Amino acid sequence: MHVVIIGAGIAGLLAAREIINTGVVSNVTIFEEDSSIGKPEHCTGIVSENFLRLVPEARDCILGKYKYMEIIGKDFKTIAELKFRNYIYMIDRAAVEQKVAEKILDKALILTRTKVTDILVHKDSVKIILSEQSKYSQSLSKQDIVIVCEGARQYFARKLLGFSSRKYVYGIQCDCKSYIRKEMHEDTIYILYDRKFSDLYFSWIVPQDNDIVRVGLGAHKLLKQRFEMLTRLVKPIKVLKVFGGKILLDKCPDKIYVKNVLFMGDSVNFIKPMTGGGNSICAFTARILGKCISNFGKYYLDGVSLARLCAISLVRFVRSLQHGADTLYDLIMRSTLRDVALDLLSCFRFVIPVFDIQDFDIQARYVEKISVRII
Ligand SMILES: Cc1cc2nc3c(=O)[nH]c(=O)nc-3n(C[C@H](O)[C@H](O)[C@H](O)COP(=O)(O)OP(=O)(O)OC[C@H]3O[C@@H](n4cnc5c(N)ncnc54)[C@H](O)[C@@H]3O)c2cc1C
Repeated sequence: MHVVIIGAGIAGLLAAREIINTGVVSNVTIFEEDSSIGKPEHCTGIVSENFLRLVPEARDCILGKYKYMEIIGKDFKTIAELKFRNYIYMIDRAAVEQKVAEKILDKALILTRTKVTDILVHKDSVKIILSEQSKYSQSLSKQDIVIVCEGARQYFARKLLGFSSRKYVYGIQCDCKSYIRKEMHEDTIYILYDRKFSDLYFSWIVPQDNDIVRVGLGAHKLLKQRFEMLTRLVKPIKVLKVFGGKILLDKCPDKIYVKNVLFMGDSVNFIKPMTGGGNSICAFTARILGKCISNFGKYYLDGVSLARLCAISLVRFVRSLQHGADTLYDLIMRSTLRDVALDLLSCFRFVIPVFDIQDFDIQARYVEKISVRII
């Protein structure tokens, strides 16, 4: 069986690794349009301990370690200080991807500067059309599997599944040397809920171990103006790099495959509800994919059946997580079962901010109670 992966982001690389580890697949090829792995960067890199457990390379790429989150509202008033049960980390995402890529290089073929321009799904085969500079296309039989990990662009998801995320914000951030770095607590992530900086989301200021501050926001409109205003707030001495991308906030669709073409990662919203964080979910789903392939692969299923079985398990996992968080959120906000919901939320193994992007003004009233439970 041949597996072709489109996109060497975190989803594609971790999926490749888990597939290689099954020993069922003889041939793994990854196509990546960029010239190097991990670039251009877009992710803040905030992950929980779960991610480090699943991706041990990330332990060598930690930029900061946090025990607290300070929630700041309008006029810079602190609404709450949350204490995490386990440490939260900022990782250098590009470095993690490079390390994972290095480890799989002897078992997988990673072709950078190779953009997939089209996927043609026929009755018994799939044809991958590559960009002109790579000068060839790849045909796969129905024994093989194509895994699309194209990220938030969702070009093939739109074309083949008819899916694209309706809810999203644009995230923009920078790393800078800052006059206020010394006044910040090393182990605290600062989250700002102020519509001045972010219309539908929030802003973040996160100190790194290396004397640098990562500051950013998610917004729909007036991104540049808002970002300039926010950056001024941290009194920058020198801005080192500016980066960002699309943060998805929707649920994953019911169907994430067509024949033997399976979608994973941001391409089908494998993200945490409310924050759009996808790193941990990519790691969990890659593990599930590996388990499915090693369990079902030994029955000599063809790629079409295998893709369908993997898709069922993956969607079940991601959607239950997303629905679970939504339900708890609804209970917290509206129901008399708020206390039960708060307890359940604090047992959740993912860090889920309890702020809804739409109505965080109302939520501020509950935040203290929530923070107490999270501690
Ligand atoms: C501003 C911002 C901050 C974020 N912060 C966090 C955070 O703190 N924590 C967290 O968990 N998540 C965060 N996320 C979300 C996280 O980055 C994504 O969920 C994660 O990157 C998804 O991984 P992916 O591999 O699916 O997509 P990507 O990382 O986008 O990778 C997709 C890859 O596919 C390649 N590609 C695309 N199309 C083609 C093609 N046609 N041919 C060949 N190659 C192609 C791209 O070049 C890219 O390398 C953030 C996102 C943004 C935008």
